Amino acid sequence: MTRTLITGAQNTWCPGCGNFAIQHTLKNLLSDREREGKSLDDVVLVSGIGCHAKIADYLNINSFYSLHGRAIPVATGIKLANPALTVICCVGDGDAYAEGLDHLIFAAKRNIDITVIVHNNRVYGLTTGQYTPTSPMGFKGRSTPAGTAEYPLNPVELMLASGAGFIARGYTRKMEMLKGLIRAGIAHKGFAFIDVLQICASFFPATDYYDSHVYELPSTGSEDFDSACPLAREWDYNSDARIALGTFFTRVSPTFDERMIPVPIGKEERERAIRELLDARM
Ligand code: SF4
Repeated sequence: MTRTLITGAQNTWCPGCGNFAIQHTLKNLLSDREREGKSLDDVVLVSGIGCHAKIADYLNINSFYSLHGRAIPVATGIKLANPALTVICCVGDGDAYAEGLDHLIFAAKRNIDITVIVHNNRVYGLTTGQYTPTSPMGFKGRSTPAGTAEYPLNPVELMLASGAGFIARGYTRKMEMLKGLIRAGIAHKGFAFIDVLQICASFFPATDYYDSHVYELPSTGSEDFDSACPLAREWDYNSDARIALGTFFTRVSPTFDERMIPVPIGKEERERAIRELLDARM
């Protein structure tokens, strides 16, 4: 029997919010997975804090609603404790590119075998419109009424430099493409990063802006770092810039759990070590 994938929880996202597109894309992928005879019991969704995070309440799968900026370490812990699980980590731009930035970089560097989907609406929506690390230059929000005076962080370039093995960018108004990117990210063995340009209907309704700036990359992603670099550099540092959608880079290499060498340790020794750790914290 197939399960109902949307829970009965009251949905409080604003009408027109791009989070709906990500939720329904994930729902469709999970339905496909069930149809292929794979269990959904071995899928875990981890979210951070922000509007995006409510997806953990709205999708009926195993989930962990974590802390602001800390979704990636939780997802890392789950994966290392049980490498057989498929771990999907939904995070926001304020969540992963500000407070949780170090976790994102280290998960990429370590090649943790999880899929990180960034709901990048380029604004703090839940707290009603402050700028985030990816807000465009000049963004006028609640904390920057005269406009921001700094360039946006380029997450794709950052992930390329950090060693991520699968790097892609999607857009919530191109759902078929987004589905393909997330499917490929989940199938990728190793750290997969998908930045999703997500419309925030209330505080950054950039639909026309994106529709006139985005274009689709022709290939399924280069395995060559140097070829991926110029594409990753394209970002809206100025109003004429083009924004590429698609897969920028793919490279398969041993994952952290494959490289990790377990230290042989007996039960008593392990319990003593844990006790010592706990005592040291008192
Ligand atoms: Fe979506 Fe923006 Fe509303 Fe949050 S504030 S639910 S991101 S439209």
